[in-house]
Formats: sequence, structure tokens, C-alpha cells
Amino acid sequence: MARDRAYLDWNATTPLRREAREAMAAAWDLAGNPSSVHAEGRAARRLVEDARGAIAAALGADPRNVVFSSGGTEANALALAPGLRGKGGQAIERLIISSIEHASVLSGGRFAAEAIATVGVTESGVVDLDHLADLLDGPPALVSIMLANNETGALQPVAEAAAMVHAAGGLLHVDAVQAFGKIPIDIKDLSADLVSISGHKIGGPKGVGALLLAEGVAGLDALIRGGGQELGRRAGTENVPGIAGFGAAVRAAMAGLVEDAARIENLRNRLEEGLRQTRGVFVFCEKAPRLPNTTLFAVPGLKAETAVIGFDLEGIAVSSGSACSSGKVQPSHVLEAMGFAPELAKGGVRLSLGWSTTMAEVDRCLEAWRKLSGTLLKHSDETQLERF
Ligand code: PLP
Repeated sequence: MARDRAYLDWNATTPLRREAREAMAAAWDLAGNPSSVHAEGRAARRLVEDARGAIAAALGADPRNVVFSSGGTEANALALAPGLRGKGGQAIERLIISSIEHASVLSGGRFAAEAIATVGVTESGVVDLDHLADLLDGPPALVSIMLANNETGALQPVAEAAAMVHAAGGLLHVDAVQAFGKIPIDIKDLSADLVSISGHKIGGPKGVGALLLAEGVAGLDALIRGGGQELGRRAGTENVPGIAGFGAAVRAAMAGLVEDAARIENLRNRLEEGLRQTRGVFVFCEKAPRLPNTTLFAVPGLKAETAVIGFDLEGIAVSSGSACSSGKVQPSHVLEAMGFAPELAKGGVRLSLGWSTTMAEVDRCLEAWRKLSGTLLKHSDETQLERF
């Protein structure tokens, strides 16, 4: 990162960890295909299996149940498979997704549009379990609920949802792409049946991820067919350097997780305290349990894009809602699902921190905000600001 810039957009992607870079550099020098039986092939296979073991250990899964993919998007697409069967062997006939999911889940995967229902969220940005109970009344469903929302950071009641889903004969898929590496996760504690993760959110390379399966999940239909790689669940020669980098990043993230989370949360709280000094600042989901690194705020009358460009010109990289929708002046679907009017739902500015974020960067961001808010909010409607 250039010295005069501060990167506060870690939920979009993270810098590559040194450990990941080194693991990848070593892997580039291996000539073998992991499916080959000769020594070169076996050396490449070792890297893949070593990474698989690290990922399985980090999430309390069995290495055989880790399926590498090209990222979180593909892991989600693979998981949303109509061929899955519930724990008693029953066919999964429909999909229930929450209204605040990432676009890759909102697309519904391979389920037909008419087989998809959406569960709402409360105004605190948390999945409405009463609504879920109503929706579960029917044929067995695959339910997809993210562990942490990428825009607000709000943690979702996944374990409670799992109990309800299983009682109704269904399966639970958890998109843990944002939560992984930021809070401890155990697939058994969550009682999740399928879990998606992504390398570039935890200091690994972009373009590699994984779907983890709980013991006994059956009927997962491969998205990409061909060779028998990944036990037939994802064909294609493995991305050996990417996978090796992912594994190294996971080890590094797990080693520092608890300390990093506490330090990052303190910085995030300092950031929010500073932001609140400006009249009209509204922090979303502040009452809900949240990721330690994420702040989403808005000021009535201020468009997120204007703020993002202003921050950028001051040397601070932040984002408007999710990275996938940045650049488009559209209300955030997450904020709309929480019941916010389009005017405020267009204003969400996301600041997200990571393991190398410093207090000096946070203070620089606040300094930039004081300057920006002074200019941008000069003509704002006083009555609008007073509402918050
Ligand atoms: N799920 C969530 C919650 C995300 O935030 C993202 C990326 O922003 C994804 C899935 C997609 O992951 P990837 O970028 O690895 O495809």
C-alpha cells in the first residue's frame, strides 16, 4: 500500500499475506500435475492436500469434505444444487434464501425461480426466524443463510436456523465468505451442512475458494464435470499455486485470529466514535452482533458514491455497500431489506479493517471524513440530519 494511502476496504478483498505469497512462489516451480503418479505429480498433490488439511482443520471439517473451487461465487453456485438429499435421504425440492445474501446466492444457483422463496430480515439486519419457520412449512428445503453480511457485518443466527431447518427435514448452506478468518468458525458448532469460503478475503489469492460439506451430505451434483478431481465434485486440474496460497493464508489467519479480532474491533470502535462526532451520522446494525472489522454508515442526503470518491481523493479506499455493486448508484438490497428508504439505502459507506490496519490509518480516515463532511454536508437539509 502506498504510504500516503489507507486501505479500508478489506471486505472487498485483502492484501496478499506474506505466507501466501511465499507458498505460491514455491508452487509455481512445481512442474507436476497433482493427478500424475510420478514424483513431480506427487509433489504437487502434497501441496494441494496440505492446504486441504489446513482448511479442514480451521473449520472443524474432514479434509475429504473440502471441495476446492474458483472462489466464493463458485462455492455458492456448487452448493445450491437441487440434487441434494436431506439427512434421511429425502429429496430437497426447494430453496429458501435470505434477502441479504450475496448476489451469488440471490441468483438461486441451479434451482428454478419458482422453487425459490426469500426469508426477510429484521430492521437490525438479522434473519427473521419466525418468517423462516413459516417458510419451512412444506417440502424439504435447502436453506442458504450467510454467517456475516458483507455490507453491515451483522452476524446471522445460523445455529438456530440449522436446528429449525433440520427439524423440517432440510439442509443448511452457510456462506461464510466474510466471516471466515475474522471470527472463529466450526462447521459442527454451526450445524451447517455446506459452508462456502473464499481465499482472497483472508489474505490468500483471488480466484480460489472452497465448499465444505458436513459428514453425510449426499447428492451434491458437480457444477463442472470432466475428470474425477475433487472426488468427482469439481473437475479440472487443480489451481495448485492458488490452493497452496489459500492454505498458507488460512494457517496465518488462524494463528492470529483472536488477537487480531480484538485489536481490529478497538480500531473499528474508535472509527465509529470519531464518525459520530459529525451530526447526522447513522451507523447501521450497531445493536446487532457484528464482525469486529466492519462499519456501514450513512448521512441522510449524502450519496455513497460521492463519499467514496471524496475519500479516495483524500487517499482513503472505502466502498459503497458491497464491492460487486459499487460503481452503480443503486440502493443497497441489504439496506432495503432492512426497511430503509431508498434515500438512506443509497448512502451506505462501508469501512472495513484488517490485520495490518493501524491506528494512524484510522485517524487519517477520520481526518478525511471531517474535511469531507464539512464540504459535502454544508448544504444538507438540517431537518434531515436532525432525524438521526
Ligand atoms: N459471498 C460473500 C458474502 C461475499 O462477500 C463475496 C465477495 O464479496 C462472495 C460470496 C464471493 O466470493 P468471491 O469473490 O471469492 O467469488
